[in-house]
Amino acid sequence: MALEDRTLVCRDCGEEFAFTAGEQTFYMERGLLNDPQRCPVCRATKRRERGGDQRTLTTVVCASCGSQTTVPFVPRLDKPVYCNPCFEKVRSAGSGNEHRESGTAPAMP
Ligand SMILES: [Zn+2]
Ligand SMILES: [Zn+2]
Repeated sequence: MALEDRTLVCRDCGEEFAFTAGEQTFYMERGLLNDPQRCPVCRATKRRERGGDQRTLTTVVCASCGSQTTVPFVPRLDKPVYCNPCFEKVRSAGSGNEHRESGTAPAMP
């Protein structure tokens, strides 16, 4: 039986994607009778969301010393990211000390 490429519609994003003959063979070999429900992009996204075994390491530049480091999370854009030594420094320096503005006392009327 010759297999042909088929076009399926992703149930997540609604995009059409190719279910190729090679993939169909792969599915059959594994005994999977159902067509894939999602396009490769959504499948990869789902896998990433679910997969606890793969940690997302993001390469960032330390806000203090400028060296490259990896962090096990996706940093927020409005927060500075530090490498480990700098993070320790910032944390110990900043503990308990509120940031105070100097020399800008509000003028009283
Ligand atoms: Zn999709
Ligand atoms: Zn640093």
